[in-house]
Amino acid sequence: MTTHAISPLPSLDALLRAPAAAVLLARFGRSATTETFRRILAERRQARLFHAPEAEILDRAADVLAAGFARSQRPVFNLTGTVLHTNLGRAPMPPEAAAAAAEAMRSATSLEYDLDTGKRGERDSHIAPLLRRLTGAEAATVVNNNAAAVVLVLNTLASGKQVAVSRGELIEIGGAFRVPDIMSRAGAVLKEVGTTNRTHARDYAQAIGPEMAALMRVHQANYKISGFTASVPTEELARIAHAAGLPLIDDLGSGSLIDLARWGLPHETTPMESLSAGADVVTFSGDKLLGGPQAGLIVGSKATIAQIDANPLKRALRLDKGRLAALEVVLRLYLDPDRLAEKLPALRLLTRAEADIRATAERMAALIQRAWPARPVTVEACRSQIGSGALPVDLLPSAAVAIGGGGLEALASALRGLPCPVIGRIAQDRLRLDCRCLEPAEEAMFAAQLPAAS
Ligand SMILES: *Cc1c(COP(=O)(O)O)cnc(C)c1O
Repeated sequence: MTTHAISPLPSLDALLRAPAAAVLLARFGRSATTETFRRILAERRQARLFHAPEAEILDRAADVLAAGFARSQRPVFNLTGTVLHTNLGRAPMPPEAAAAAAEAMRSATSLEYDLDTGKRGERDSHIAPLLRRLTGAEAATVVNNNAAAVVLVLNTLASGKQVAVSRGELIEIGGAFRVPDIMSRAGAVLKEVGTTNRTHARDYAQAIGPEMAALMRVHQANYKISGFTASVPTEELARIAHAAGLPLIDDLGSGSLIDLARWGLPHETTPMESLSAGADVVTFSGDKLLGGPQAGLIVGSKATIAQIDANPLKRALRLDKGRLAALEVVLRLYLDPDRLAEKLPALRLLTRAEADIRATAERMAALIQRAWPARPVTVEACRSQIGSGALPVDLLPSAAVAIGGGGLEALASALRGLPCPVIGRIAQDRLRLDCRCLEPAEEAMFAAQLPAAS
């Protein structure tokens, strides 16, 4: 029997006086450290373990305290191949936008203060003029996210009344966003028109009665209906709505503020296109293709936006000063479209050249091979997804490090356990790390945390 095995449990006082406890006290404070010692001692007694060396209790306390104080939300390497990954926080922010957010959060700002007059100002005044300029809309407003934008628009324009939506557009976008549920929570009554694959102009026209408050188009965000299909173009839908004296609402989802075809990406309807086709209110997300912070942007006619701004729900859904600051910086980047792909990380990642991604993959493959010499490691061509429901069927040519061998779940878990967790995807007996979102500037940090050859 070793002397360790017969050491009685140390007292709380003895633990607090131990030289090693000084480090814990300095780092985690007296109350958390004392509480942790007490809990560990109580657990031991309860388990009838009346012997333990002091060092063992101190080590355990250090682990418990470190785990309790560790940040839960942490930066990760998104090597899933989905660029705007909702579970990984969607669009990465330009550093100057993140800095503006941090600065706004640290200090008092002119959030609702007019610096010219010295009087009360409007929090949306930092964003609305930019959105008007960028979309050509008469008016604009901004809320927490696009789901909030849709709720607010429906509640404002159609509370207690009907809204017509094609059966082909009754979408679910994951989580709790389903058009029928959102509609009823907003207090509006969904009037389904047409069929899943075909909806015609006459379907809308026939649905319009005294209870109808608006027609609505919802972007088919994360799926595509193909084959024997028919839908009504926005222009025609707007004509039908306006002939009946009703507004047309267009939920674009990922609406891009600029034509992505310019960079060889598939075209996604822009708010400008929707407005000029006759939509009265258009909603879209801030953190999808736009590449900014989580936000819901609403653009449209002056009268409609004024009604929306006057809805008391607007206050419950408004944006905080940090995100407003970041959004302002991101929207300003759009004033210089020629440099957008360089300055806006979301667009930079989406337009990254395949050869450039492959070069990163080759460098990372060599490092990964060194860290796991027994595993087959290769570079493979692959396809990245844009993500966040944008352009669901369009894929971007990319390159991945493919790691084989047994126990891939354990390997994936080890990569998630790194200081900056690495998130890949397991499919067909390989763990694949799509290198599109590992930019050259981050390679050194990625490399430095890989384990030494095992
Ligand atoms: C993503 C999306 C939403 C929800 O937007 P959030 O910004 O996630 O709240 C609503 N409608 C459509 C069509 C979408 O694609």
